[in-house]
Amino acid sequence: MARFCPLFSGSSGNSFYIGSGESGILIDVGRSARQTVKMLESCNISPGAIQGIFVTHEHTDHVKGLRVFAEKHCIPVYSSAGTLQALEDNGTVSAKMTCRVLEAEGIECGGMLIRPFPISHDCAEGFGFKINTSDDRKVAFATDLGYISEQVQKELETSDLVVLESNHDVGMLQNGPYPYYLKRRILSDVGHLSNEVCSQMLPHLAATGVTRFVLAHLSGENNTPDLAYQTSLCSLKMAGLSQQMDFELEVARKENLTGKILLF
Ligand SMILES: [Zn+2]
Ligand SMILES: [Zn+2]
Repeated sequence: MARFCPLFSGSSGNSFYIGSGESGILIDVGRSARQTVKMLESCNISPGAIQGIFVTHEHTDHVKGLRVFAEKHCIPVYSSAGTLQALEDNGTVSAKMTCRVLEAEGIECGGMLIRPFPISHDCAEGFGFKINTSDDRKVAFATDLGYISEQVQKELETSDLVVLESNHDVGMLQNGPYPYYLKRRILSDVGHLSNEVCSQMLPHLAATGVTRFVLAHLSGENNTPDLAYQTSLCSLKMAGLSQQMDFELEVARKENLTGKILLF
């Protein structure tokens, strides 16, 4: 059975494990290497199980612990040419690290096939990922996106598990303390996905066969886990779907303090 474990999620750092009990990958290392190892261990995942690190983009909340973690555990790093260049330019990658450009056809790693797709975000060349596990389960992963393009939507459809950004409540953001330029950036096509936009997509995805949803990358300032959860739950229920029969809905917390792992 495949395992999905959100280690950290949100503006203070992002990192997710996908794999089996023995081997798998990390998407992003957005907290320090020490915190990441500690969290992996508390979720009963050995750092030695990680065969590759797949980086969505170069923003600090996705790469803070990348260099130390990849060097210490000798793990190859995969991302877009643009992200790898940006990481080189800002000194995040070192000569000791193995960095590879992830081409559109994807790569096999940790017994899974990992394929990238482009997302719209204010970074060099951001990626979402589509993952086929060894027992042929499909995961689509998309955070840090200003809107859901047709291509992203296609990648999300028919997956077994969808991890989708539910960053902010538009009202909280508009009335909150952020400066105007930042509010504009977050709401733009290269910003972040709101609870509203995320929730409106879920009934459509459920109709294509998606049964598990994980809401991710919640803002600490302009959202709460309960608000994100209730907005999506309401949207799915309004479409006539039943929580027990048709779907499971989870929120990836800032830190996975309970060591929760999803089996699918
Ligand atoms: Zn970002
Ligand atoms: Zn981010």
